[in-house]
Amino acid sequence: MLKLFSIRSLTILISTIILSTSVISETKYYVAPYISTAKSLKMTTPEMALQKLIAGNMRFINNKVINRNLTNQAIKTSVKGQFPSALVLSCMDSRGIPELILDQGIGDIFAVRLAGNVIDSDQLAGIEYATKVVGTKLIVIMGHTQCGAVSGACQNVKLGNLTQLLDKIQPAVTAIRNQQDDKLDCADSETIDLIARENVLHMMKLVTEGSPITKDLIDNKKVMLVGAMQNIKSGKVTFFDSDGKEIEAEHQS
Ligand SMILES: [Zn+2]
Repeated sequence: MLKLFSIRSLTILISTIILSTSVISETKYYVAPYISTAKSLKMTTPEMALQKLIAGNMRFINNKVINRNLTNQAIKTSVKGQFPSALVLSCMDSRGIPELILDQGIGDIFAVRLAGNVIDSDQLAGIEYATKVVGTKLIVIMGHTQCGAVSGACQNVKLGNLTQLLDKIQPAVTAIRNQQDDKLDCADSETIDLIARENVLHMMKLVTEGSPITKDLIDNKKVMLVGAMQNIKSGKVTFFDSDGKEIEAEHQS
């Protein structure tokens, strides 16, 4: 009887260990490996913040995104506060969700979104809050291919409040028109994408011209400002500096 009991106990014990191990390994898989904290932000350089986004986009385009426990991240960040290392200003296009295409979790990035990723004083205020108050290290102005707002600006669409928004993209339209000897084809997708990229470079200039606070942080290398273009079809995000020179992943450079 005692022997039978011992065998049963042993079987239960082994089953429990096997079950626990599988639960632990599953839990490990589902729990986010990382949330942004005051300490992580302090340890992060602008270059590191950029490489984090490049790595996240690589995971996205290779369908290897981190399987985060977002509920857990929401609870943790509600207690510890938010310390995003990057701010991403991008278009409202429904295919360009920055947290998804850059594979970031809750509390990892500030996302500012507006049609045509245009900038005025309200966006600059958000950038100043992120960089000067919170300590965010990286500003990304991200445009994308197949942008409806850019297409509208190219066609000089006039419609309600859109008119004044599209006007903000006109400097980029003019720049590309000049490059193409006044023969601008707004039905050509490559032309629209060229304007979108030019628009990003123009908005980057507006950040430093319109915000002395942010310019000072950039000049002192406390904050980095980069541009980016998301390819809507592939999901690939290409990052570049204010001269339009592409920035590559660290292991490739
Ligand atoms: Zn767009």
